[in-house]
Amino acid sequence: MNHDQTSDRSFVIVGGGLAGARAAEGIRAEGFAGRVVIVAAEDEIPYIRPPLSKEYLQGKAGRDTVFVHPADWYDQQNIDVLRGRTASVLSPRTHELTLDGGEVLRYDKLLLATGAASRRYPGQGAGLAGVHHLRTIGESEALREALRTGSRRVVIVGAGWIGLEVAAAARGYGNEVTVLGRESVPLNLIVGDEVGAVFGELHRANGVDLRMSTGVADIVGDGTGVTGVVLDTGEVVPADVVVVGIGAVPNIGLAAEAGLAVDNGIVTDAAFRTSAADVYAVGDVANVFHPVLGHRIRIEHWANAENAGAAAGRSMAGAEVSYAEIPYFYTDQFDLGMEYSGYADLVQDAAVVIRGDLAAREFIAFWVADSRVVAGMNVNVWDVNQAVQDLIRSRVRIDADRLADEKIALTDLSAPTD
Ligand SMILES: Cc1cc2nc3c(=O)[nH]c(=O)nc-3n(C[C@H](O)[C@H](O)[C@H](O)COP(=O)(O)OP(=O)(O)OC[C@H]3O[C@@H](n4cnc5c(N)ncnc54)[C@H](O)[C@@H]3O)c2cc1C
Repeated sequence: MNHDQTSDRSFVIVGGGLAGARAAEGIRAEGFAGRVVIVAAEDEIPYIRPPLSKEYLQGKAGRDTVFVHPADWYDQQNIDVLRGRTASVLSPRTHELTLDGGEVLRYDKLLLATGAASRRYPGQGAGLAGVHHLRTIGESEALREALRTGSRRVVIVGAGWIGLEVAAAARGYGNEVTVLGRESVPLNLIVGDEVGAVFGELHRANGVDLRMSTGVADIVGDGTGVTGVVLDTGEVVPADVVVVGIGAVPNIGLAAEAGLAVDNGIVTDAAFRTSAADVYAVGDVANVFHPVLGHRIRIEHWANAENAGAAAGRSMAGAEVSYAEIPYFYTDQFDLGMEYSGYADLVQDAAVVIRGDLAAREFIAFWVADSRVVAGMNVNVWDVNQAVQDLIRSRVRIDADRLADEKIALTDLSAPTD
């Protein structure tokens, strides 16, 4: 604490998302008393995105529930949020940031928390009325408007997390829903065929027409808007609403143009320092060295923005930081709730061990490499994710039968057996 209390110093955060907001909080928590400015391209105070494809899209949560802090919190903390302002040029040599309109902010330290943007559908049809992408609160509101009549033919391009969550919301309103996925099983690149199939079954059981191993050739429309999605077989799937959920791309433009090292995101060390002096990066946009893995990872998940954001702020304010959290994310779809913790890049060759009942969608899946748990996913089983993380951290070798045995408490598994 109290590393940097020189009040004439100025810290600038580019990006008013969750990572930016938590960084500002971390800076203040570490005792920095100088100026803190958040430059936020969106015309909103920082908000979280997970509800935008879940309870907010479903109309079950109000607008006030998505904000990281109420507006007056920023005043109390003496944090300036410049809403609707975009940073256009970063000059690390002179420690200056130019905003749209030409205003120049001088900084002592600067954080890039510019996040990611949804990957746009590359064809011309992306611009048709009725074609939606989903990243911002405004886009969630527009999509909710389109879904809530409940009588539309909704086609979702992409069977990833956001595509599947939107499918659940769209069905919840009573729409006819088709999901088009390129892979053979939804999410199989992340969770494998066996667990991915659970999500497939869930959607089919809830009336979604889930079409896997399906490529999209075009999105087509008439003078009034979208009318359908053309598959690469030539078949046209009729649509009143199309949602494109084909991933996100990190907003690296500012960093790349400033000459910072960029490689699948802005490259940083475990304290979020980029290749430029006094410039840090965190959240979806940052590819951060992970001391446990021994290489960099870029994580597009809420918990990373939340926790790494705060850690980056503390690092800027002078704390010793070596960020080593285990990646975590969650989803809610229909009556399925899931939490996942682990190292996605270690699961590729790992064996899957199931504890519980896959068919009943109530289980914990473990990914095991060299008899060690490298990731775990609890589905409709609660208050266990901390224990799953402890197992991963313990690096203890565990027999697969014991891992699968529900009679043995998770907390007893990390005790070595030999
Ligand atoms: C619909 C949706 C649902 C999600 N659901 C989940 C979930 O269930 N679980 C989960 O773990 N994760 C989920 N995520 C991912 C999670 O929301 C992100 O990981 C998180 O938002 C990343 O936070 P961030 O602050 O790094 O970036 P962002 O949230 O992208 O914020 C970055 C901000 O910076 C602004 N910006 C960019 N460039 C500039 C500039 N030059 N000047 C000024 N401002 C700029 C952007 O406009 C944006 O507001 C979801 C994401 C979406 C879109």
